[in-house]
Amino acid sequence: MNVAHPAKNDHRPVTPCNDTCVERRSDLASVTCPYCFEVVDLYVDPETEGSFVEDCAVCCRPWTVTVSRDEQTGELIVDVGRA
Ligand SMILES: [Zn+2]
Repeated sequence: MNVAHPAKNDHRPVTPCNDTCVERRSDLASVTCPYCFEVVDLYVDPETEGSFVEDCAVCCRPWTVTVSRDEQTGELIVDVGRA
């Protein structure tokens, strides 16, 4: 019986950590729920811009999320209000 070994994910090249490694992923924003005031990490798709409705992961009430980006830095700007 020939047991196939699962492909080993070994020796994945490790990118040397340069001084930008503390840079935060720009598509993850910490927002404060306008209803329950919990701080929730909101993942924003890199192509997403404008407004959309997203339910709070904690209290399930709907947010209106407005996504924009700083033209200079490309930094994600996320505004959350009550839908
Ligand atoms: Zn909430």
